[in-house]
Amino acid sequence: MCGIVGYTGYKDAESVLTVGLHKVEYRGYDSAGLVVLKDGKFYIRKKAGKIHELEILLKEDPIPKANIGIAHTRWATHGGVCDINAHPHISQKGKFAVVHNGIIDNYSNLKRFLEENGYKFLSETDTEAISHLLEYNFEITGDPFEAVLRSVRMLEGSFALAILFNEDEDLIIGVRKDSPLIVGLGKGENFLASDQVAFLQHTKEAIFMDNEEIALVRRNSVEFYNFDGIRLDKRSVFLNYGDEEAEKGPYPHFMLKEIYEQPKVIKKNLDIYTKNGKPTLLKDSNLRKVLSEKTG
Ligand code: GLU
Repeated sequence: MCGIVGYTGYKDAESVLTVGLHKVEYRGYDSAGLVVLKDGKFYIRKKAGKIHELEILLKEDPIPKANIGIAHTRWATHGGVCDINAHPHISQKGKFAVVHNGIIDNYSNLKRFLEENGYKFLSETDTEAISHLLEYNFEITGDPFEAVLRSVRMLEGSFALAILFNEDEDLIIGVRKDSPLIVGLGKGENFLASDQVAFLQHTKEAIFMDNEEIALVRRNSVEFYNFDGIRLDKRSVFLNYGDEEAEKGPYPHFMLKEIYEQPKVIKKNLDIYTKNGKPTLLKDSNLRKVLSEKTG
């Protein structure tokens, strides 16, 4: 499972997304890719290898300036490491673009079902099945949100998703099931990421998605729903977390940084459960607030 970054706002999406990808680079990955949406059309670039290779591709084969897009670093689980298997994946008729962290357990059955319904697969990934499934369900419902609701009920496994719909240039749909996803709240811009480090330089206000939730992220609003389509009221938190904490700093690589930071991190975490050297018990509802305040 690797990285997801999404952006809708007024800035150049390509630049926000590539910077965001570098921030989640510490998790390791084998491929990188992004897609922006402009005038109803997806512009997609993806490449096996380092984010740098993607940046070279974007220079050689530029995409138009756009204000909405999603990006991904992949750690292959289904299909080899090659350009075609890198994310994003686009549905057959070009209605949906998807990036995915996780594994779709019932992917073989879904693939068979979709092939029987006329869908042709270009990649070996489980993720491609999600993009076609969304389109299949969109053709039944005529509504992208209803298509997502129907699709998530048909998916088994773990999936954090960022989805673009080609008819709405101000909508990123985020889906969280057993893989983290966080919404970053800006002014006239909003973010979606698998790790808050991806958007910390733009905003420190965030809403953590819980399991089995869907976010409709627009540049000036965010709505949350559960998998039954019921609207949820969620609170934002302020991340007490410096942008520099997400950087390598003086360390040559992230693993060394993690090793040297262990005492500090253990102390920070113990502080959450202790007061004046004595253990304290926290109610679950308070835990996230305290955690985010203390650790970001
Ligand atoms: N299962 C997907 C793939 O193999 C996503 C892997 C990931 O989380 O990066 O492409």
